[in-house]
Amino acid sequence: STPHTAALVAAAEARTAHNYHPLPVVVAEAAGAWMTDVDGRRYLDMLAGYSALNFGHAHPTLVAAAQAQLDRLTLTSRAFVHDRFAEFTARLADLCGKDLVLPMNTGAEAVETAIKVARKWGYEVKGVPDDRAEIIVMSGNFHGRTTTIVSFSDDPDAHDGFGPFTPGFTLVPYGDLAAVEAALTPRTVAVLVEPIQGEAGVIIPPAGYLRGLRDLCTRESVLLACDEIQSGLGRTGRTFASDHEGVVPDLYVLGKALGGGIVPVSAVVADRDVLGVLRPGQHGSTFGGNPLACAVGVGVLDLLEPGDLQARAAELGVLLRDRLSALVGHGISGFRSRGLWAGVDVDPALGTGREVCEALMARGVLAKDTHGSTIRLAPPLVVSADDLAWGLDQLAAVVAG
Ligand code: PLP
Repeated sequence: STPHTAALVAAAEARTAHNYHPLPVVVAEAAGAWMTDVDGRRYLDMLAGYSALNFGHAHPTLVAAAQAQLDRLTLTSRAFVHDRFAEFTARLADLCGKDLVLPMNTGAEAVETAIKVARKWGYEVKGVPDDRAEIIVMSGNFHGRTTTIVSFSDDPDAHDGFGPFTPGFTLVPYGDLAAVEAALTPRTVAVLVEPIQGEAGVIIPPAGYLRGLRDLCTRESVLLACDEIQSGLGRTGRTFASDHEGVVPDLYVLGKALGGGIVPVSAVVADRDVLGVLRPGQHGSTFGGNPLACAVGVGVLDLLEPGDLQARAAELGVLLRDRLSALVGHGISGFRSRGLWAGVDVDPALGTGREVCEALMARGVLAKDTHGSTIRLAPPLVVSADDLAWGLDQLAAVVAG
């Protein structure tokens, strides 16, 4: 890196908590799938803000929506109704085929919301004794960083040192339907699952798993809550990863791309018999559902409703899968992919995931390792086929040694 970049990296490190270990690149601007650093070097973005940038950087529709709203109204709080609220919530509910939307800001907040709603539903509708609700969660899960959420993480980095922990969660192996069935009790109110585990390394459960969870939850009067924060909104080639098995959860938990890479927007989407358990004063957020968020969110829905971005993710996903298949045995030991999303296991002999990402950076590709030698690839869905192929050429060159 240049002295300029090195100085800016050092300055950033000097005055922040070290809860991240970023690659030593200092980004100054971006458009579409490309970012430019402070020294004018260009990089293909193969991370897309952990899928918050599914529509790419500075998508014209979203920038225009945000700019128009900035001049009119940005915040009212939910103490008053504003004129962008109804359109966003109704259209998001329709996209999900559900009755109601509860907008929040970050992903973790939406997960917390789903947990609260499931518990209250358990007490008021299912008849679970007070304070005894149980929620079944999966090994390898990643649902965010709040104290309740890290309480049921089995990743030592996420969990250890942050107790005392919130009770009421039962951890079972991911992808094991029989384990979920065995863990059910009369006090189980929900099963919380990522349809594909992103942070764990794009782990895809066995075929039929989600369908099986859906049937089990229906039979046992348990809510199925799908955390589609990273897997949803086009990434896998369908609007939701659950769509691949024709599964409709009771609660959709959404975030990341819902804010178009411009503002944090998250939501829980469910039918009236579930979200209706919340009454005034029982849950909320100062910024949740604010006018700027709703305006950008409507722009996101404009992009998702026609379905062509989802189709594009599926098409480019074939290219991604074919190119990665050719690398197996040539520097990568295996990979998992669905749509424009892949977890690539680099041959550990080549170095850590971090070292591979640094080598990619030197070749103009930005990606991020997750757990050891796994690299997640999730370029914006608007990336061109040529650019994607070029990015994969760089990966091939790096893993060739
Ligand atoms: N749930 C899933 C599946 C995620 O991938 C993430 C973030 O990576 C979250 C929840 C947390 O979202 P946020 O970082 O916006 O709180």
